[in-house]
Amino acid sequence: MKNIVMLGAPGAGKGTQSALIAKEYGIPHISTGDILRRNIKEGTELGKLAKSYIDAGALVPDEVVIGIVADRLSEADAKNGYVLDGFPRTIAQAEALDKVAKIDVAINIVVGFDVIVNRLSGRRVCVCGATYHTSTLGGRTTCSVCGKELFIRDDDKPETVKARLETYEKQTAPLIGYYANAGILVDVDATGTIEQDFEKIKKVLND
Ligand code: ADP
Ligand code: ZN
Repeated sequence: MKNIVMLGAPGAGKGTQSALIAKEYGIPHISTGDILRRNIKEGTELGKLAKSYIDAGALVPDEVVIGIVADRLSEADAKNGYVLDGFPRTIAQAEALDKVAKIDVAINIVVGFDVIVNRLSGRRVCVCGATYHTSTLGGRTTCSVCGKELFIRDDDKPETVKARLETYEKQTAPLIGYYANAGILVDVDATGTIEQDFEKIKKVLND
């Protein structure tokens, strides 16, 4: 299977689609956001460092996340493909990634600003990693995977969302040009249902 990078603004649906890709093709879903949040929850040194950046809608320093991802990619289950979600987020991260891996395809999830705001404001998450949207929960407040109570991510608060979108435009959007130059960028319009969007992504990956 391929080594896949997922691009797209916060709230575009990278996490949801990455999880579906991982399941469909039996490859690991490597999300730097999930790794950082797990460290925050467990109160590790890394978690303490990351929290201040994340809560401000800023990026955790490149050298920190690059180290995390390089370690993760050296594990055995990453030998037969993986889907990277939330990494790289800067040109420096992309260049560092190119030194330790060969990326086959970068899928850029394209959605409008209104969709992003709606997805982020309705997002509910579980400690197990499952993600939901209020529009499909029908008032339910617990996780259908593990039964725990769902919560709103701290960085989904409106003030932080604005900062995250600015960070995206400034630091992450340039990656679209980076992977277009490398000849491996594919734009996927992701304004449909989760299933419709995933069908489009599968077509790209099965090519
Ligand atoms: P989203 O894509 O919905 O904004 P993520 O879960 O991917 O959320 O990331 C949440 C936060 O974790 C980011 O806003 C950022 O502060 C931090 N983070 C995640 N991945 C990276 C990365 N590759 N480089 C720097 N910071 C990161
Ligand atoms: Zn759960």
